[in-house]
Amino acid sequence: MTDPANDKSRDIALGMDRPITRRDFLNGIAISATAAASGPLFAAPQGPSSGLPAAAQDAYGYYPPLLNGMRGSHPGSFENAHALRDGHTWPAATDTSEEYDLIVVGGGISGLSAAHFYRAHAGSASRILILDNHDDFGGHAKRNEFNLDGHLNLLNGGTLEIDSPRPYGPVAAGLLKTLGLDVPALAKSTQHLKFYDARGLQSGAFFDRETFGADKLVVGVGTVPFEQLLADAPLSERARKDIAQIETAKIDYMPGVSSDEKKQRLSRMSYEAFLRDVAHADPAVLKFYSARTKGEWGVGTDAVSALDCWALEMPGFQGMKLKKGAIARMGFTPAGYADTGGSYRLHFPDGNATIARLLVQNLIPRAIPGGSADIVTARVNYAQLDRSQTPVRLRLNSIVTRARNIGDSPSSGQVEVTYLREGQPYTVRGRGAVLACYNVMIPYLCPELPPAQKEALHKLVKTPLVYTSVALRNWQAFDKLKLHRVYAPGSYHTYFHLNAHVNVGAYRSTSSPHDPMLVHMVRTPCQPGLSEHDQNRAGRAELLTTSFETFERNIRDQLGRTLNAGGFDPARDITAITVNRWPHGYAPEYNPLFDPELPEKDRPHVVGRAQFGRITIANSDAGGGAYTDSAINQGHRAVMELLHG
Ligand SMILES: Cc1cc2nc3c(=O)[nH]c(=O)nc-3n(C[C@H](O)[C@H](O)[C@H](O)COP(=O)(O)OP(=O)(O)OC[C@H]3O[C@@H](n4cnc5c(N)ncnc54)[C@H](O)[C@@H]3O)c2cc1C
Repeated sequence: MTDPANDKSRDIALGMDRPITRRDFLNGIAISATAAASGPLFAAPQGPSSGLPAAAQDAYGYYPPLLNGMRGSHPGSFENAHALRDGHTWPAATDTSEEYDLIVVGGGISGLSAAHFYRAHAGSASRILILDNHDDFGGHAKRNEFNLDGHLNLLNGGTLEIDSPRPYGPVAAGLLKTLGLDVPALAKSTQHLKFYDARGLQSGAFFDRETFGADKLVVGVGTVPFEQLLADAPLSERARKDIAQIETAKIDYMPGVSSDEKKQRLSRMSYEAFLRDVAHADPAVLKFYSARTKGEWGVGTDAVSALDCWALEMPGFQGMKLKKGAIARMGFTPAGYADTGGSYRLHFPDGNATIARLLVQNLIPRAIPGGSADIVTARVNYAQLDRSQTPVRLRLNSIVTRARNIGDSPSSGQVEVTYLREGQPYTVRGRGAVLACYNVMIPYLCPELPPAQKEALHKLVKTPLVYTSVALRNWQAFDKLKLHRVYAPGSYHTYFHLNAHVNVGAYRSTSSPHDPMLVHMVRTPCQPGLSEHDQNRAGRAELLTTSFETFERNIRDQLGRTLNAGGFDPARDITAITVNRWPHGYAPEYNPLFDPELPEKDRPHVVGRAQFGRITIANSDAGGGAYTDSAINQGHRAVMELLHG
């Protein structure tokens, strides 16, 4: 990690002065509704979409997937939510006089699915308004698009792939089918790792000098025997032996104890404690494994149970004779994978943004012409998303600050929703509303909810994380080092890898090392030693106060140090950076280390999602699982409550 104290010559060597694409600019002009309304470039081609002032999304050239710089929770998307939390009030709202059958708050997969299910059950003429605070739809399922030397290159800005600890159930699987996806067939035809395998590229691990005493890249994790792989790593002989033992030896660390009892004990200790107190590993070994859980859970091994790590097939348990299935007394299987093998897995070039785009195509066909086969390369016409002539409207850059049942009784027939656009409040009315937004925000939108429900919603703290997309001039350094992914437990981003090689529809991935390439990097800000949610809170605060410049400097430094033996020069080789910052990332999941053991009906996500008059609650938060199938299932449940509750 670089010292942010500005070392000028180091900055120049890293290329901090190079003119790369790093800012939230579109066609050279900062994107905002003000800009949209002012110049000919942004003149809305078909006039405003409603009686409201011209909106950025109606402007010619509006295409947020192409933006670089700080994305995810981008500047302008969240400040008013924090102001609401802090007690700010706004002047009286303008009544738009718009009336809908359904208003959906949140244009992520859950909200888009809710709109889909409502139309499927109430009829395709149903009038629906979807409001989202971001400049693009999809929620976490965002698309990063780059034009590199005239070639379309895609990456997921958030939600990576179809993948869940349990098989998709009939609702979620049925929706994917309706959208035209044959997931098992596509999963077979897009096995992306084969491409790098065939070139002889492997996984590596990077030991950084700040954590391990010296910088060292080792290549061949999972293919080269550990003793050999780690021979030159900056580790003591004892630490090297311990890692080899944890990875390969079949040791029962709890002989004579039943499988259920072992699982019970493992559910109450962290993986770090398991390595330290049960496997008696060297302290450097704990550092080496510390980040192994960050991709899946957003926190390190100090805050994830050993049992969850066993369920995800992390090393150390091979000799422990643990049986599949739920622990009898606790009645749950920690991560699901151990029991079910998980769902099918499928990665589109832009991750699950493809699912969000398919949903929008299904809801507003004119916004995305073509069929589902062309969806990956289709260009969205944002100006078609919010037209008064179409039954479904998707309004971006619109943060909801209030949702209330109209009338004395919560069961009365209408809901009024207030949202802000360009700082101005507007109201719309509906026969019902689905709040598919971050559940933790709902007490501020609906202050009249029962206290116990608000208390439960306040507990739904999400996990912050960052997915960074970096464009490179070429990937010759990776090819030379025979490397396609790196685990870097002490570095700023704890993983990075070459973009997945997926050819689907007309989309073609880069195949020559001489061509430009995208690299996907993952950072999970957290603070070891605290409870999981306190780590999440600390990480969120850190994320919101970290400048793009700090990210850029650390990215350049990390890639430069890791890849320099392959001839990589960060000043010369980096051409664009997009930091997808998600301060409110993964939905909270039950963590046996910190959460009380409660029956399902008493868990915060269940108490928090209770219907309130004509307002129902969706989002993956309401399902207690940070997965797309959970987002879809909750969208469905919330709609069924409105229609039949
Ligand atoms: C980096 C990352 C990677 C992930 N990878 C995977 C993966 O590989 N597989 C998987 O299954 N899941 C993954 N997930 C989990 C992911 O959250 C879900 O799969 C799913 O996309 C969640 O959809 P959602 O609609 O429930 O929530 P979101 O995607 O969060 O959508 C909610 C939307 O509501 C908006 N909103 C919030 N408050 C307001 C308001 N007041 N007014 C208006 N709009 C509001 C939010 O900004 C957001 O746009 C990942 C999540 C993250 C953050």
